[in-house]
Amino acid sequence: MTTDIAICRAATLLPIAQVAARLDIPEEAIEPYGRVKAKIAPERLPTATSEGKLILVTAINPTPAGEGKTTTSVGLADALNRIGKRTALALREPSLGPCFGMKGGAAGGGHAQVAPMEDINLHFTGDFHAITSAHNLLAAMIDNHIHWGNKLGLDVRRIVWRRVLDMNDRALRDIAQSLGGVANGFPRESGFDITVASEVMAILCLARDLADLERRLGDIIVGTRADHSPVTARDLKADGAMAVLLKDAIRPNLVQTLENNPAFLHGGPFANIAHGCNSVIATRTALGLADYVVTEAGFGADLGAEKFFDIKCRQAGLDPAAAVIVATVRALKMNGGVAKADLAAEDVEAVRRGGVNLARHIENIRMFGVPAVVAINHFAGDSAEELAAVAEIARAHGVEAILCRHWAEGGAGAEALAHAVVALTETPGQFGFLYDDDLPLFDKINTVATRIYRAEGAVAEPAVLAKLARWEKTGHGRLPVCMAKTQYSFSTDPSLLGAPTGHIVHVREVRLAAGAGFVVAICGDIMTMPGLPRVPAAESVRLNAEGLIEGLF
Ligand code: ADP
Ligand code: MG
Repeated sequence: MTTDIAICRAATLLPIAQVAARLDIPEEAIEPYGRVKAKIAPERLPTATSEGKLILVTAINPTPAGEGKTTTSVGLADALNRIGKRTALALREPSLGPCFGMKGGAAGGGHAQVAPMEDINLHFTGDFHAITSAHNLLAAMIDNHIHWGNKLGLDVRRIVWRRVLDMNDRALRDIAQSLGGVANGFPRESGFDITVASEVMAILCLARDLADLERRLGDIIVGTRADHSPVTARDLKADGAMAVLLKDAIRPNLVQTLENNPAFLHGGPFANIAHGCNSVIATRTALGLADYVVTEAGFGADLGAEKFFDIKCRQAGLDPAAAVIVATVRALKMNGGVAKADLAAEDVEAVRRGGVNLARHIENIRMFGVPAVVAINHFAGDSAEELAAVAEIARAHGVEAILCRHWAEGGAGAEALAHAVVALTETPGQFGFLYDDDLPLFDKINTVATRIYRAEGAVAEPAVLAKLARWEKTGHGRLPVCMAKTQYSFSTDPSLLGAPTGHIVHVREVRLAAGAGFVVAICGDIMTMPGLPRVPAAESVRLNAEGLIEGLF
């Protein structure tokens, strides 16, 4: 079997200025990083006279069988370009740490990839390193402030700002720090999260420009005083220096697909404790340059699409024109109760049983007033009857399902999907949010739980409700909620596949991300620092005699 990296290396990539030329990006706005990567300076672009149409790619609940949202996004963008539509991609940048754990990158797959995939998956243009530095500068300034007398009166037991690293390292989840004596500060417990879980990442992805970035950085709450009053990054005078560290990272990165079409890859916040979409700046830049912009939201539509609509589109004033719901026969079979080891055997009934998952996502997307189409991502081994069963389920719920072969064939394999998407965007949608800004915070959580997850309701301990009440008094009550729960189920129990009902959403903890501008509701165990598996991919990664990476993808 040809690997993703081999397919990627065999592609002929254009110099990045030629890719930029497809979108008429003027030379002075291009800052090349080598031959095939560049940063784009949005402030040096001509003012857009019209705005492109925004297409969201989302999916059914993920399973270990794989769904292929990124792959389908790339295939769709290539296909739209093939049928003569000026189209750009706006995607997340992958995190480096996980590449050394389980094998596999996050730049698409097969013949639908963004390139150069090894750069994109590793250091790329250094954005995540800059975010790591900005985050950790604030952490250093907190401990330094306490060391020199703690004028702000921070309660050292109530510091919520941890440190970050772009590495899967379970040893750092919980640490004792500042040990070794008086010169090293006041000993306390803390820990590390992976960089993509940093609020700085979410801020970079929601900021409209540099000024908005700096304001949001200043709003970060690092902890509280004994009386619960918040201490911010602005109070510590850290916001200016943090913004300086991010001045290049805030510029969107331009790369190309294997078919030489423009792709903006920028930012990559977690899809559980953050909102899971690429930066607003990249999406807006793309919309100003292209007629169609294809973007992706993390996880399944219950988490990814809901947050894309209710957090990103709300904050950035975006109006999505259409949504593509990716489904696979394999994932539907797993939702229908088939074990991963038994996926090879044809099982039309299991597809139909698992189809309740797809059906509910279709209903949910339409609840937002966004026209939708189902993309069936074809895997070798899918039977004709199984594929027909998926199409039947979609049709029974009022949307078309298109069989796509972009993984095997590139953009040519997704032309039918491209035509269907163009047709959907011809009639203006009726996009609306799930809840209003004015709704009390817990009612927002309950609205998502009952209407999207179809739970009986949300519950929380009095201490959690008291926090929400406090934030409503401090002027944070109008923020949207960012749900953090398992991606595998509509419920908070990862083993409840399909379309569960009657469940309760237990809100274990809430966190205020005042800079990002959302309230995180944590339901279940959410890991913010992954570990490496028993046999990490890193063991087989090396450079070969030609200096090329082997064993990574
Ligand atoms: P997501 O964005 O939903 O996480 P990706 O697009 O990154 O999913 O795909 C996950 C993995 O599945 C990748 O390794 C990709 O190469 C693989 N994949 C996607 N579509 C197919 C397909 N049709 N056939 C085989 N492998 C596929
Ligand atoms: Mg993806």
